[in-house]
Amino acid sequence: MRPYILAETNWAALKKAAFDLAVLPWGATEAHNFHLPYGTDIYESNYLAAESARLAWEKGAKVIVLPTVPYGVNTGQTDIYLDINLNPSTQFAIMHDIIEVLNRQGLHKLLIFNSHGGNDFKPMIRELGVKYPEMFIAFTNWFTSIDKKMFFDNEGDHADEMETSLMLYFEPQFVLPKEKWGKGTEKKNIIKGFSEGWAWAERKWSKISADTGVGNPEQATSEKGEKYFRAVTQKMAGLLYDISKTDIKNMYK
Ligand SMILES: [Zn+2]
Repeated sequence: MRPYILAETNWAALKKAAFDLAVLPWGATEAHNFHLPYGTDIYESNYLAAESARLAWEKGAKVIVLPTVPYGVNTGQTDIYLDINLNPSTQFAIMHDIIEVLNRQGLHKLLIFNSHGGNDFKPMIRELGVKYPEMFIAFTNWFTSIDKKMFFDNEGDHADEMETSLMLYFEPQFVLPKEKWGKGTEKKNIIKGFSEGWAWAERKWSKISADTGVGNPEQATSEKGEKYFRAVTQKMAGLLYDISKTDIKNMYK
């Protein structure tokens, strides 16, 4: 029973508890190439947030990890079977209700620990920040926290070498054998602004990838996954620690 994981702890422990920071992991339920489970982003959220919180807790930070939200924004995957889409407005409503509880109970710092590229919390945090001025609300995309090139040979952003390595490390029994892995080849938009990344439009996922992956997973290993996991959680633990210990009224110098 880990005291920093809300789903595992209990009223006896929490009756008189006071945490400094709530961490809300946010995943998605979606196809990940042929070979990774639909819950990949949920597993990543669970393992990475829990370990980051453990490291921060051991340094003395009073953090509590809320249960992972299992659905994310999947508006580009409407034709991929059982990819479950949460609309941004629904996501906003969920955040709003959780923040209302935290604010009312005096837990004034929230970090969203995001595992899914389609989730975009910035506009929601802006709006909820105005509505709840006592709250400090932030998010991190852990997958951008460390240069992946230091750990992996092939780039990608979905079911790639990084995600396959993590899943081989976390839950190898849910990863199909290597001969089933797709190549994760991505088709680029023929309009330059989009393919170069300085203009944005939703990618119609079934048109850009035959196997739903973006990034070749073939060099993935559990060892790479573990090294990356250790590096990301160290860095995230630092962030959790810093947020929980910082007076939000005196954040700038
Ligand atoms: Zn993913």
